[in-house]
Amino acid sequence: MNTLFISDLHLDSERPSSIQQFLRFTEEEASTAAALYILGDLFEAWIGDDDTHPGYEPIIEALASLKLRGTPCFFMHGNRDFLVGKRFAAATGCQLLAEHKIVELGDKRVLLTHGDLLCTDDKPYMDLRATVRDPNWQRDFLAKSLEERRAIADDLRDKSQIAVAEKPPEIMDVNQQTVEATMCEHEVSILLHGHTHRPGIHHFDLNGIEATRIVLGAWYEQGSVVRWDANGFHLETLSR
Ligand code: MN
Repeated sequence: MNTLFISDLHLDSERPSSIQQFLRFTEEEASTAAALYILGDLFEAWIGDDDTHPGYEPIIEALASLKLRGTPCFFMHGNRDFLVGKRFAAATGCQLLAEHKIVELGDKRVLLTHGDLLCTDDKPYMDLRATVRDPNWQRDFLAKSLEERRAIADDLRDKSQIAVAEKPPEIMDVNQQTVEATMCEHEVSILLHGHTHRPGIHHFDLNGIEATRIVLGAWYEQGSVVRWDANGFHLETLSR
């Protein structure tokens, strides 16, 4: 049986082809999987579970029906959808995960994380993250009207796009020391994450042990999935 991992779909009603691909993926591949893990940024933006965006309904229904057909589904927050909460979990049947999660696959312990916490060279982003992950900031934000929240989210997104365009690309990749420290702290030799939109498999020495970092890709032009089966892991592209 396969265990499937995806991230960075950035689903948005303005990009229906990604949504269609995700719906097909849940109906076909994922419905026979042992489990589906979504490692953040399923949505391009999520301003609260009370935002009943009609474009999101098919996505919620697809996750709920996946659960009904017997595939447990796990959701980890990304930097775009960190406000996904209990109401979403109840509507979809997804179990919400903390920002680090260890899963056991065969005889391997694998650490899952979205990936933004590994990008410690990007100091302005880490500061912004600390602000928006503060429970007080979130409570104040969620108390605002949907219109106000949408305006704030659009503003943050515009600022982030400008900042990203100005930053050298290596700043927005993971910091190798942070990767190694995180893996040591969780006592794993395999790390699986998304966020950087740089799909790949990296092998390196971690205190004398061969370590592996697997990076999922984004779903803008095509899909990206890690499939874990009896033979180990496979990083695959899903054509559209
Ligand atoms: Mn991200």
